[in-house]
Amino acid sequence: MSLSKQDILEALAAVPNPVGGGDIVDSDIVQWVTACDGHVAIKLSMPGQSTPAVRDGLQKSVERAVRTLAIGVGVDLEQLNISFVDHAGERVESKSQAAQPGDQPTKSALDAKFVIAVGAGKGGVGKSTVAVNIAVGLARRGSAVGLLDGDIYGPSLPTMLGLDTLDQQVHEGQLQPMAVHGLKAISIGKMVDPDKPLIWRGPMAHGAFKQLIDRTAWGSLDAMVIDLPPGTGDVPLTMAQSLQLTGAVIVCTPQKVAQDDAVRAIRMFQQLEVEILGVVENMSFFIGDDGKEYDIFGRGGAEMMAQRMNVPYLGAIPINMALRANGDAGTPTNNFDASTAGGEQIPRALDQVVDNLEKQMALASMRTGQHRPTLNIS
Ligand code: ADP
Repeated sequence: MSLSKQDILEALAAVPNPVGGGDIVDSDIVQWVTACDGHVAIKLSMPGQSTPAVRDGLQKSVERAVRTLAIGVGVDLEQLNISFVDHAGERVESKSQAAQPGDQPTKSALDAKFVIAVGAGKGGVGKSTVAVNIAVGLARRGSAVGLLDGDIYGPSLPTMLGLDTLDQQVHEGQLQPMAVHGLKAISIGKMVDPDKPLIWRGPMAHGAFKQLIDRTAWGSLDAMVIDLPPGTGDVPLTMAQSLQLTGAVIVCTPQKVAQDDAVRAIRMFQQLEVEILGVVENMSFFIGDDGKEYDIFGRGGAEMMAQRMNVPYLGAIPINMALRANGDAGTPTNNFDASTAGGEQIPRALDQVVDNLEKQMALASMRTGQHRPTLNIS
């Protein structure tokens, strides 16, 4: 998998000309593009006089455009060289040129005590909702938490965390996670064009995923929560394989058809020797205005499936309007307060799930004899 010159030119056509109208391709600022495997060189030429600050700003925009493209198509960008030339093709001395932030970016080995994948057999069962709320729940208990949206088929984190108005920043060759709701988050949804769905294959997903892990300035984390794509196909399998996971949380709704797919997801993780930290039964039941509890999908189905599979059960989350509304509004912390969560029901349910998850995390680290404080993935 490699980037083509055409792909790069298309990405650069989205960068506006900082000193005039149009984009930098139209206005001939982009003079030269070469791409071979993960190596990209770009030469830019600014018309007339340009200040180092303008060149610096432009270099950052070009770097961001190329890096997001590389992540979007799953290419590991090993070297990115951006230089400014004059009309004779000679290098223009500038501060940004000396910095060359794209060259050999520092690798960020993931430094996290626990790496937790959230998976599901089916789409739409609430996997992202659970991933977001356990990440926020762990952060509210004082853990340093990272949240990575790896659901390339339907990245929901931009909406569920309210990232829509934020731009993905790149600093010195590293993606900067977004600091929101007490956690650090990165979503693949911020790097691919939502109107141009990509056809992902295993190796491509692997490349994109590895970059999100390796090239993000995560810092030191207690827990990294990863929202995986649903199912047991090539893509979630490759992603789960490319990480040193502490364990997986499986989200399942109570119906038989959802259980059957969740069983397959559990088996996939078990085959990869990834411990199942537990099953969450989502959309377990519904409490009507009459105060009655309605077991719409057959409450307890996922709990029984967990028992049958001999894996822990972390708890039930009911169907609740506030949970859905807080997901749509990107306000997950509201789910932890009765006044903004439509009553006690959701905060209590989430607290129980996070409590049980913390216990399973502690057990998992004891079982694997994890005396070393960190897991390093590089
Ligand atoms: P998945 O990641 O499995 O595709 P999502 O977490 O995106 O599922 O959830 C799908 C939709 O269902 C979202 O609109 C979400 O807000 C809503 N949802 C999930 N769980 C619940 C629940 N327990 N009560 C109400 N709405 C829910």
